[in-house]
This record gives sequence, structure tokens and C-alpha cells, in this order.
Amino acid sequence: MPKVNTHFQDLSKTYIFSTIEQKLEHLKKDASHDLPILNLGIGDVAKPLAPSIASVISQAAFEMSKEAGMRGYGPSSGYPFLKQAIVASRYSHLGISPEEIFISDGINSDILNLLDLFSLHNTIAIPNPSYPAYKDACVINGRLPHLTYLPCSAETDFLPYPPQQACDLIFLCSPHNPTGVAFTRSALSLWVEYAKKHDAIILYDSAYTAFVTSHDVPLSIFEIEGAHEVAIECCSFSKSAGFTGLRCAYAVVPRTLRAPVSLHALWSRRQAIKFNGVAYPIQMGALATLMSPGKEETWRQVQDYGTCASLLRSGLLHLGFTCFGGMDSPYIWWKTPDQLSSWEFFDLLLEKGGILSIPGEGFGEYGKGYVRLSAFTSQEIVKETLSRLASL
Ligand code: PLP
Repeated sequence: MPKVNTHFQDLSKTYIFSTIEQKLEHLKKDASHDLPILNLGIGDVAKPLAPSIASVISQAAFEMSKEAGMRGYGPSSGYPFLKQAIVASRYSHLGISPEEIFISDGINSDILNLLDLFSLHNTIAIPNPSYPAYKDACVINGRLPHLTYLPCSAETDFLPYPPQQACDLIFLCSPHNPTGVAFTRSALSLWVEYAKKHDAIILYDSAYTAFVTSHDVPLSIFEIEGAHEVAIECCSFSKSAGFTGLRCAYAVVPRTLRAPVSLHALWSRRQAIKFNGVAYPIQMGALATLMSPGKEETWRQVQDYGTCASLLRSGLLHLGFTCFGGMDSPYIWWKTPDQLSSWEFFDLLLEKGGILSIPGEGFGEYGKGYVRLSAFTSQEIVKETLSRLASL
């Protein structure tokens, strides 16, 4: 008999999304509930793929049906055309070269696979609340005893701040999921200083950067002096271009990272062993999002989600609620009224208003007393949500 990885037993027993599914199923069977559900829970994109990008992807697939255009395995770190275009559009002024870009199928894979580079004895800091995969991936690696949680509460303006003690690895996400708040340059500089002081590496999740509008919020951690020595940045086309179902992302792994051996070389090796690259048509599609007309089409989609976020935020504030985020992010972090727990408020919104949110504690202990709303929806749904809330 094989011995299995027993660390799976250390994962939380209740999976929040299956509990939500069950509640939805139950509601559908309830004949007295006839309100259509307004889904503001989902963190997936809602708009169809931009037409010019769909057309580039299908042309690239067609090209492969010709003798001259046939392609087999591509480079595991991605085609140079995409790496060069990423550097030209985002990093040329930040001293990053195409060789430091590694194309992948998602931040989800990258940020968790990057753990392969680091010994199991490293201490790891994780924001709380945060994207649940950071903690779960550490847990199944057997890293649970080495985790430290960084509170993201009202006292810390819903972002993690450097702790007193030293940590070797730090997961950071800005704009942060689920609180919807982003680091300013000065707040992020504190983290870079911390990492330099403690010889730590920051695993920086940049999934929602396309939503940043504030001038004092950096679009890349590499805008911060010294970050090239201590940070790996993970970016994705998922939310910026509606690629959640297509899968294309990239990790920026500088050659200058401070570590006993080159982390750039290790990541290159690791990817060559375990990853056979992203499909050529998908990489062509990703390229099309960086050039006209795909760039404008996807930009308009992000703008639309951004408008939904600000309508939601201002509507909730107008109704007298307390909420955060939603300015540089598609997420609104809504404080539950009347001391209700996250689940009580979630149930109330769903049963009385037909509004689907996500209970904050699904993202960690410090999410208690909040629910997350997502602006990956349409303005009609936002208006309907606000009108239902007004009449509740
Ligand atoms: N990181 C965060 C913070 C997310 O919220 C998500 C998806 O919701 C991801 C990563 C996954 O990104 P990708 O689709 O690139 O794997």
C-alpha cells in the first residue's frame, strides 16, 4: 500500500464554497423564494472574451493546422514574443529583462509552485484574511507549524504590516483579496525594507493590478527600490483580460534576488522539469491583450468592472453601511451591521434579498464580521442589488 501525504488531513474540514453551494441549492428548492439570485460572490470574470482576442486565438490554432505553422512543445518559460511584449508594456522602465519573465498557466500555479524552491524549515507569513490557496498549499506541503498570520483588520487598514519577528517567506497580495485595499508606495516600501533586513523573499501576488487607479499605488513591486533583491511578482491575464478560462500568467523572477543560490536558475530548472508551457494560441491571445485593438477592448472591460465597484461602494455608503476597498480593486469589504456574524449576514442577504456574497471568515479568522462583494458583474445587477438593499 502506498503511504499517502497525511498533511491533507490538516486542511480545514469545511470548504466554504461547498457550504455556499448547498445553501444555494436549498434556496432553489424553496418554493416561497422567487427572487432571482444576484451573484456578487464570485471572483470570476463575467464578461465574454474580447472579440479581437478570440479571433487571434482561433487564427493561431488554425495556423497550427498548416504544415508551416505546426508547433509542438514550446519553451517551458514561454515564447520570447510574449515575454518581450510584457517587458515592453510593463517593465522596461523597471530594469526587468525578458529572461526574467516566466510564462505560466496561472498565478495560482506559480505562487504555490514557487514554494518548491524553499526548504520546509522556512517560516512563512500569510495575511489573514487572504486568498485561501496560500495557506492550503503550505498545509499540504507540511508547512503548517511554520506559518505566521498577519492580521488585516480595521486596525491595520485591512492590509498586512511587517511583524516584529523575522520570517523567511512572505505572501503579499495587492490590491488585496478579499479586503479590496491596495498598498501605497510607502506601505509597500516597509515590506521591502523588512525583507532586506531579514533576508526574506516576498511572493507578491499582483492578480488585481489592472484595477489600480490611485496615483500613490504602485503597479508593480519593482517600482520600490530594493525590490529586485527580495521580491518575485506573479501576474496574470485572468482578471485583466478575462482569461480565467484560457489560463495565461507570468512570474517575474529577477536574477538579482538575494539567496544562497540563484532562485532564477532554480525556477528555470523547476519549470523545465515540471511544466511543458502554455498553448501557443493562448500565448498569442495574451499578446493580443497588450496590443491594439485588444488592449483597448480589455481596458474597457476592466473600466466597466471598476465602475461597478465604485457604484457598489458609494451605494452601500449612501445606505449607511460601512465598507472598504472597491477603489483600486473589484472587491468590496463590507462590515456586517448590528454585530451580525459573517454567516448570519450572508444568510440574511441571500434569503431576504437574493444577494450572494462571500462570508469574510472564509478567507481567515480576521475576516469575521465582514462579507466580500465582487464587482465582476454588470451595472444593472449592481443597481438592482442597491435597490433591493434599500427596500430591505
Ligand atoms: N491570486 C488571487 C489573489 C486571486 O484572487 C486569484 C483568483 O481569484 C488568483 C490568484 C488566481 O489567478 P489565476 O487565474 O492567474 O490562477
